[in-house]
Amino acid sequence: MDVSDKGISGSDEVHAAARMGWLRASVLGANDGILSTSSLIIGVASAHTAQAGILLAGISSLIAGAMSMAAGEYVSVSSQADSEKADLTREKKELGSSWDSEVSELAGIYRQRGLDDLLAHQVAVALMKHDALGVHARDELGISDVTAARPIQAALASACAFALGAILPLLTAVLSPLRLVSWSVSIVSLICLAILGTVGALAGGTAPWRPALRVIFWGVMAMLVTSVIGNVFNK
Ligand SMILES: [Zn+2]
Repeated sequence: MDVSDKGISGSDEVHAAARMGWLRASVLGANDGILSTSSLIIGVASAHTAQAGILLAGISSLIAGAMSMAAGEYVSVSSQADSEKADLTREKKELGSSWDSEVSELAGIYRQRGLDDLLAHQVAVALMKHDALGVHARDELGISDVTAARPIQAALASACAFALGAILPLLTAVLSPLRLVSWSVSIVSLICLAILGTVGALAGGTAPWRPALRVIFWGVMAMLVTSVIGNVFNK
């Protein structure tokens, strides 16, 4: 029953899944931006760097991080898009040359999902008459419009999420008195990380405590390590 439910899931469900993917990616990007930029600022500030140096480090972290997120996301999503495209080209060729074996291939997939022989065959024939490549893409390769890889969008979204996250500790460093920079940046960043973790957990339908605590734990670790290293260079 579960298997067939998954196979015929409605489009609302699919859209919710796609939204979750975007939300998850944005939350992760913003987490990265907050954590790496605040740790960098704390490290530099712990070495008693002047305000201009701290701000330069923060701005560099924002730009470098956003660019590296964009590049990483573009490369990974592009290669996914390439392999989806290659799969579709091969599928198109197979549909052109061996229609009958493609029908039985699709019918086999529907049998696995719980249809009996006759019904599986009828469904395969009917769906292939309607949109042969579309149904093979969806049910055999698992490619739908929703999951189809979009490299530029993914790159921009990750870069923006990182930059939005990074701007919080950076602004805090700008507004805070120099001798309090480490403290204010770590407190503001931990609060933002906790809020983000809670929002992400609630959106994902899980209890907010664990994710928030996990992200706070790793946030404290990162900030402690860079602050210790910064203090080593403090002369
Ligand atoms: Zn096929």
